[in-house]
Amino acid sequence: MAFETASLPLLKEALEILEEGFRDLPDFDARFDMAALRPVILETARRLRDNYPYQHPLYIGHMIKPPHPVARLAYALALWINPNNHSFDGGRASSAMEKEAVAQLAHMIGWEKHLGHLCGGGTLANLEALWISGKLAPGKTIVASQQAHFTHERICEALRIPFESAPTDDRARMDMKALRETLDRKDVGMVVVTLGTTGVGAVDPLLEILELREEYGFRIHADAAYGGYYVLVDELEPDTRAVFSHVGEVDSLVVDPHKHGLQPYGCGCILFRDPSVGRFYKHDSPYTYFTSSELHLGEISLECSRAGAAAVALWATQRMLPLVKGGEFAQSLLRCRKAALRLYELIEAHPRFMSPFPPETDIVVWAPRADTVSEASDLSRALFEEASREGLHMALADVPGSFFSRKYPSLIQDRESITALRCCMMKPEHMDWIDSVWAVAKRAAGRVFERM
Ligand SMILES: *Cc1c(COP(=O)(O)O)cnc(C)c1O
Repeated sequence: MAFETASLPLLKEALEILEEGFRDLPDFDARFDMAALRPVILETARRLRDNYPYQHPLYIGHMIKPPHPVARLAYALALWINPNNHSFDGGRASSAMEKEAVAQLAHMIGWEKHLGHLCGGGTLANLEALWISGKLAPGKTIVASQQAHFTHERICEALRIPFESAPTDDRARMDMKALRETLDRKDVGMVVVTLGTTGVGAVDPLLEILELREEYGFRIHADAAYGGYYVLVDELEPDTRAVFSHVGEVDSLVVDPHKHGLQPYGCGCILFRDPSVGRFYKHDSPYTYFTSSELHLGEISLECSRAGAAAVALWATQRMLPLVKGGEFAQSLLRCRKAALRLYELIEAHPRFMSPFPPETDIVVWAPRADTVSEASDLSRALFEEASREGLHMALADVPGSFFSRKYPSLIQDRESITALRCCMMKPEHMDWIDSVWAVAKRAAGRVFERM
């Protein structure tokens, strides 16, 4: 059995402790048909088999990381109460836990003062940052790189904020010359700096952008939905590490605990450096009656009802695995990065594969070698299929062919983008599995090359 179930008895023990807190109330029976439950739940389990094995180390496709057992248990425990973190009245303990957990995330990037909260995910968290930018600088343009998450352009459309995308260099980082040209041409209200792009894990050059902010005066929002936790890891390339050590100088930041933070889905976080932006959220709701005069989370969030369980899970996880450099959590991130670096080394050493650059975080992009971009794309797709037959699940990503041209000048660019293989080495176990991953990849590639 590869599923972790040893922790399950602890849930029962914890539920007894939770229930003790409500002992003064008269007993009641939550009645339901136990006999009808069994077949439905077993059918549900069978239905769920129709999935890629996201939880397994041979799954290196998309950014999917299993929640830690502590997060799973804490989340499940909270479901017996089902708190709603829209207000203190809806979830007193879980709101307090959210504030503590969010303060720890703020502390991780060096903020002792902040305004922030959890939300459904990176999309909503980014929406709040872009919405505030629109409030502070109405009509001004928001700029993000061509490798930024597509959500920024769409959010701008929804919020009716002008948007412009800036080209990237051949390391997938925002191109500074292009950004300066945009700044000269447009009235820019905010620049979105991606710290760990979703496609290849690249980190935009924050230091240069901070200098441009001095000159041009715009807000900086860091979309660190995927990469934010790398602030805890020192073993990065020097320029990447320098970016993370200045991350506290941005105006707002998004980090997704449900990406690298070991949480179940439904957990993003938005942080603002200046708490006074809270004024834009203000509303007078006749529906949510507050018994407390303290600022409640519903006053600083666009979403109303939210799972208090998500806050409980995050709080418990950070309690067990504090967000500190050199701690167990940071070490497990480092293992992800080491696995990615090792995979890159193996690809580099192989005469029939190519990879445009080393992973800046823990995502590796590569392709089989070929004369043209079209052929390399076909080979990537074939290898993707062939490997998945042996249980190794990678992802395909279309990236600009120019990423490859500096290192592989003879690659004929007969198409603008190349379909490459993308491997997210986001599980700490990947370090132990790298040889198995590589063995399957090589075997699959052998069959693909043979067919050609
Ligand atoms: C995943 C991701 C998002 C979107 O976040 P969701 O949690 O999927 O809504 C935004 N930006 C970046 C950089 C991401 O990696």
